[in-house]
Amino acid sequence: MSDYFAEFHERRERRTWKRGQVREIRTVGDPVLRSECDPVRTFDQTLRRLVDDLFATMYAADGAGLAANQIGVGRCVFVYDCGDDADVWHRGVVVNAVVVEATGELLDEGEGCLSLPGITTVLARPSRVTVRGQDVDGSAVEITGTGYFARCLLHEADHLSGRLFTDLVTGDSRKAALRAIRATAAR
Ligand SMILES: [Zn+2]
Repeated sequence: MSDYFAEFHERRERRTWKRGQVREIRTVGDPVLRSECDPVRTFDQTLRRLVDDLFATMYAADGAGLAANQIGVGRCVFVYDCGDDADVWHRGVVVNAVVVEATGELLDEGEGCLSLPGITTVLARPSRVTVRGQDVDGSAVEITGTGYFARCLLHEADHLSGRLFTDLVTGDSRKAALRAIRATAAR
């Protein structure tokens, strides 16, 4: 991916982003989180500014991933910075992401979302996920993640379809999640 990340190669600088603006994170109850995002057709400065804002906002909130509609932009773009099952860290952006494979054993692990503050619940997700899409320049990318990174890729892809992770929770956890959502949406 060109030199877009060149100035951030140092691990110690990872959790900061020198470009972009920290934007307000939309929370549950905002219709933009429930709308399917539109594909990106133009790979221009507007897209780069959006990606910069996503990184800046994700780091300010100490998140592992962030989708564009979480900052109110209904476009198919998400960013991530999280570790996989071998504790290798991955940072990047996927434009027009499509999940092409989700395999492996189901892992029951805690999951949360910056748009659902205060809600963490255990959710089964496949341990290996492959996503296809494009980078900021429009070049094709294919990304395979394992462990928590696989979870992150599915979680962010869900956002682009207007889904929230709590939609997938069942049983008593679902009741607790819905109560917490109602409390958040009422604020
Ligand atoms: Zn989320």
